[in-house]
Amino acid sequence: MTDREAVIRVTEAGFYCPAGDFYVDPWRKVARAVITHAHSDHARPGCGAYLCPVEGRAVLAARVGGGAVIDTLPYGERKRIGDAVVSLHPAGHILGSAQVRVETAAGVWVVSGDYNNSTSTPACAAFEPVRCDVFITESTFGLPLYRWPRPEVVFAEIHRWWAANREEGLTSVLPAYPLGKSQRLLAGLDGEVGPIAVHGNVKTFLPLYEAAGIRLAPTVLLTEKTAPEIRGKGLVIMSSAAREAGILRKLGPVSHGFASGWMQTRAARRSRDGDRGFVMSDHADWPGLLAAVEATGARRIGVTHGELESFTRYLSERGYDAFAAPTRFTGEGSDGGE
Ligand SMILES: [Zn+2]
Ligand SMILES: [Zn+2]
Repeated sequence: MTDREAVIRVTEAGFYCPAGDFYVDPWRKVARAVITHAHSDHARPGCGAYLCPVEGRAVLAARVGGGAVIDTLPYGERKRIGDAVVSLHPAGHILGSAQVRVETAAGVWVVSGDYNNSTSTPACAAFEPVRCDVFITESTFGLPLYRWPRPEVVFAEIHRWWAANREEGLTSVLPAYPLGKSQRLLAGLDGEVGPIAVHGNVKTFLPLYEAAGIRLAPTVLLTEKTAPEIRGKGLVIMSSAAREAGILRKLGPVSHGFASGWMQTRAARRSRDGDRGFVMSDHADWPGLLAAVEATGARRIGVTHGELESFTRYLSERGYDAFAAPTRFTGEGSDGGE
């Protein structure tokens, strides 16, 4: 395929659509950016104008600054930009996350962004497959060992761990990425087991989810004042970085858990001394990635954001015209593929 036939090109600044003169998830400041979701590795401040789903507007504004020009589009609605037609489709990753469908005279391409079609959550709209000629897919968990258990099984494990901790007078602490994982947890946690507290920037995004009509378990903000009501019986959700915070000392003896796709491997479970690992992700697992690729009907697949080489090779062996589409997402303040 020559560059002239490409609906989307991988450039220095990110995925670029020449026909519409816009970028998808640019990592540089560009005039026009279409954003798959508000994680910092996909949504950078300083662009001239942004386009995202209606549901993603508030979280994107929180990420790139309230003064930014943000246009929105309802899921599934088409918008002409130059010689391209753009529409956004639910990705099942976080609130307002989207796959970006771009149609030009040269065909239909879809940039998936991060997505989860393996396990659904009440915290965001469910992934919808989109037919296309070329599908650019993420591959964070693009190895066959990653297979997520059903969310109700994982929540039952978390509730049992929390209740057992409570029996022993331990406070349960669950680190989670403040945007996405925290709300996926809060949408499934049972406040009857005990009080739930959030710490630091986890709190920032909760009103935005609630404003979008998403029901989350009731929480209190963890402070010196509220710590005594959490101590020995509650569950605290905080970012990993905040785990070192002095406030933890107010909670008495603590049991640490960790909810992530990376917890699938025994090695990851073992490496965190005394921690309890729960397998829960905002991303697709291996069967999910394969199902997503298949459902597009595309024969040409771009692989980005994760296991580029091995997943590209796997798809090529299966007869796909697969290519690696490297981005600068990984390791630059990303969501860590949780
Ligand atoms: Zn993400
Ligand atoms: Zn990402």
